[in-house]
Amino acid sequence: METDQETLTQDDVPELAGAASQVDDVEVEREQDAPEAEELDAETRARRDAALRHVRRLGDPVLRSTALLVDRFDEALAAEVQRMGELMHDALGIGLAATQVGVLHRVLVYRAYPEDPLTALVNPTLTWVSDELETAEEGCLSLPTVHVEVERAARVRVSAQDPAGVALEIEAEGLEARVIQHEIDHLDGILILDRISRGARKEAMRAMREAQAGADAE
Ligand SMILES: [Zn+2]
Repeated sequence: METDQETLTQDDVPELAGAASQVDDVEVEREQDAPEAEELDAETRARRDAALRHVRRLGDPVLRSTALLVDRFDEALAAEVQRMGELMHDALGIGLAATQVGVLHRVLVYRAYPEDPLTALVNPTLTWVSDELETAEEGCLSLPTVHVEVERAARVRVSAQDPAGVALEIEAEGLEARVIQHEIDHLDGILILDRISRGARKEAMRAMREAQAGADAE
């Protein structure tokens, strides 16, 4: 499974503003240039592993829960968003939803491209999605070792609030649109396993069990 997966460099990702195209092999929730685990220096790896211990994994019922609208834009929310951003960064992720850290708030953070600032969306809703779809490979911090092809709208419009409660409207395409859809799914208890065919799901679950068996044997 690992062999047919490539991590593309930034240059390989089609421009957000360009013509819509098939985006293959980009990874959601994993930085574009993130090296394989073995290549990480010890400190980065230790920090990533520590962050991943805070991320809920498949089997945790919170991942299947629907998060609740946020109505208090206070210091606690700001702290929650900051913590999520730090965890996402340390875990080498490009997106993280509050449910993944066990918080039932409609909050997500993402940074689709390394040069972008961190974006935090509170109470995000998709107000428009393109008819045009794109298929690309996605991973998920809650589903280690799973990489599956997921079809999503190529472009989306999102209405949300920032952590201070200020209304935001975002138009996104390419990887950014994909990450936003992936994270909003988390807020509704939906995982990438629900977005693929039954056969692909069986294959992913089998790979996950094998990886777990390998880890247990170490
Ligand atoms: Zn995910």
